[in-house]
Amino acid sequence: MASLISQIPKSSHLSQYIRDDKIFCTEFNLPLRDLETCLFNIASNQRWNENIPKEWSFFGIEINQKKILMRIMKISKIRSTASEITDRGEEVFKKVEKLDMLRYYHDAGKALYFKEDGLYDKVIINVQWFIDAFKHIITDKLHFTGIPGTQENWEEYYKTGNLRDQLLVEIWKYKDEELFEKLKKEEKYSDNESEDNDSEDESDENDKRYLLCHKESLLNFMQRLGLLAIGTESHYVPCMNRKEIETELLNLIEESESKSSVLVYQFDFLPFFLFFRLVVGCMQENGWKVLRNRGTSCLYKNAALFSYIQYNIVLSVTKESIQLQVFCPIQGIILETEKICLIQERIEELLNALAGTFNRKIQYVRGFRCRMDKEETIAMDIKEHFLPEKDIPKEDLKLMCPLHSVTDRHIIDTAELTRYWKL
Ligand SMILES: [Zn+2]
Repeated sequence: MASLISQIPKSSHLSQYIRDDKIFCTEFNLPLRDLETCLFNIASNQRWNENIPKEWSFFGIEINQKKILMRIMKISKIRSTASEITDRGEEVFKKVEKLDMLRYYHDAGKALYFKEDGLYDKVIINVQWFIDAFKHIITDKLHFTGIPGTQENWEEYYKTGNLRDQLLVEIWKYKDEELFEKLKKEEKYSDNESEDNDSEDESDENDKRYLLCHKESLLNFMQRLGLLAIGTESHYVPCMNRKEIETELLNLIEESESKSSVLVYQFDFLPFFLFFRLVVGCMQENGWKVLRNRGTSCLYKNAALFSYIQYNIVLSVTKESIQLQVFCPIQGIILETEKICLIQERIEELLNALAGTFNRKIQYVRGFRCRMDKEETIAMDIKEHFLPEKDIPKEDLKLMCPLHSVTDRHIIDTAELTRYWKL
């Protein structure tokens, strides 16, 4: 076995995890030869041969050691550790390598780091803790297990995704108390184990394991990932929204004389969270406001309405598409192509940026719905009704719908479909 290990290339990423002093002989008289060969083949595989500067490895070790005692590490701390551990620490850090190193650990799923305003000075080194923090928010059994909140707050949250800050604090406080009890038990146990334990005072370190002390950072990272939108008194968690759109709103869109056609982005694969992240993105847009109806936000499980200048923007989602329509609720207003194109551009910039953040490449085809059925103004299933942009003649024509030339025959008006949009 040892002879095989010596053959693993020194540059192999895996070699750092295999140490001679960690090899043990077993008493089993098993034919281990095949296993040895298999392990050796895996370890020598070229794909492990990533070209990672060896100066970066200290951070991998730091993550593994520190994530038990702390969840978020400041960049300044990483910098000082780099200068202590590596030969040319400060130098390693000052240059672009800092960005590359943190991005490498981010891409490898070992840390969360964004070089952006409000986030760039810290790294989440315990990713599982971060995921759990979000899971605590969206799990739907918590209110049965002793978290106070008020019944109204819980009901509103479960229906609309509107999470009162006070309720968020209650949820994380409850989880922090659970952890506190757990740690207290563990400490008691370890104190009994070794009486003469010269434990240094780690109370400061202990604090860093909790959720509430990291509330602002947690929320900022969650917003960056499109999991929620931060507000002052309440936050919006789109995946919790179960609200159906009101009929009166559908009628308002239907009856509007100033409205665009429905622009459709058809995806071969549409991840569940992409639409939510788009909605959160729109909520941060300058000048865009969530439309309100009878005092509540027009955010629904499969649609979101925004107002921008005097226009209303309808974003909706189906299993395979995201759809966009603009309308003006004031009668007699003529829609301006320029403003609608601005809205379209912004949506596409957001979509493209979001699509790039998934591991799998996400692509869409732009087009239109061939018909507008009244009862399905929003989030109409585009199956059998999707006309890709490239299949629509450039000339202004009225022609038989190419998708429905025999059964359900109907006419499409190319000018009406493509008007206002930038194609
Ligand atoms: Zn048709």
